[in-house]
Amino acid sequence: MNKSLVGLNKKELNSLLTSMGVSEKQLNMRTNQLWNWIYVRGAKSISEMTNLSKEFRKELNEQFNLTRPEISKNEISSDGTQKWLIKFPDGSEIETVFIPDGDRGTLCVSSQVGCTLNCTFCHTGTQKLVRNLSSQEIVSQMVIAKDSLSEWNKTKRDITNIVMMGMGEPLYNFENVRDGINVFADDAGLSVSKRRITLSTSGIVPKIEDAGNEIGSMLAISLHATNNDLRNELVPINKKYPIEELLDACKNYPRVKNSKRITFEYVMLKDVNDSEAQARDLIKLISGIPSKINLIPFNPWPGTIYECSDWDQIEKFSDIINRGGYASPIRMPRGRDISAACGQLKSDTKKEKASIKYKKELAKLESERIGRL
Ligand code: SF4
Repeated sequence: MNKSLVGLNKKELNSLLTSMGVSEKQLNMRTNQLWNWIYVRGAKSISEMTNLSKEFRKELNEQFNLTRPEISKNEISSDGTQKWLIKFPDGSEIETVFIPDGDRGTLCVSSQVGCTLNCTFCHTGTQKLVRNLSSQEIVSQMVIAKDSLSEWNKTKRDITNIVMMGMGEPLYNFENVRDGINVFADDAGLSVSKRRITLSTSGIVPKIEDAGNEIGSMLAISLHATNNDLRNELVPINKKYPIEELLDACKNYPRVKNSKRITFEYVMLKDVNDSEAQARDLIKLISGIPSKINLIPFNPWPGTIYECSDWDQIEKFSDIINRGGYASPIRMPRGRDISAACGQLKSDTKKEKASIKYKKELAKLESERIGRL
């Protein structure tokens, strides 16, 4: 079967062209031509590449194509948010979400099929990890979004920002995420500045410094709690990398400064992490780290034990943090009606099968939490 060139990075294109017999002398020129057709013009077939000789197109056509992964489902929310369920040839499915917001449009990209981490407020966490995505599969999510939004060859872009916040823990798929982000950011191709790309991690401490050095995007941390007991419950990877170590890694994040602030994500869970005392603890905790706090009203999903904090409580929480000297925007829920909001992603085909074991574990956590109150 012919291989798709869509989503490949320059190194991969180079090696395919070399294997076809393209000479060393022509290699860069040929790679750049393909790059432009794939990532600037959004070509869908090799025959469109009219600045390549007929003979060369014929040779390419014999081995390659520009096929995209299949879109199993495309949903559009009443607020304009779009979600694609994308199926890869091995049958694995992931979700990608586009959130338009005035002049800005953010593409939320997945890095894994499922997730190992079981954050208890997150729907993806109920879906077992199937596998890492390749960098080609990571990049192809943007190609599919640009196709659907008819964004190729336009001066005004719909997708201005990218967040690695979809399904999966990006730092558990480090090399492929790094290579994918480098394709997103390439000036001669998709050209999204790294200042507009945010990698979100639940706190894989040993990889945070590497991310700063080798990826260099903006960093977001799924924090969600101000002490280890509660964070162990909400983000269980905290048992391995506790808050103190995580915040040290943030302080040492290469090049962290005011212009490259770290974003702390904080999901607002009613009567769990939303008290005024916890807001004050949060300020103390992040003191000295150039940062902002994104407050995320909890987006419910079937089977969850959590509720979203009341709106006036979220505002009180935000005010305290603002008065403490940190920006704390409240992220307005987007795409809730199509389960595209933060923490709601889960491949549709798996949705009906929320595991009974998982629900029991949540019920146990809930009774332990009530016992601690
Ligand atoms: S919040 Fe992120 S890391 Fe945690 S379970 Fe969900 S997808 Fe995985």
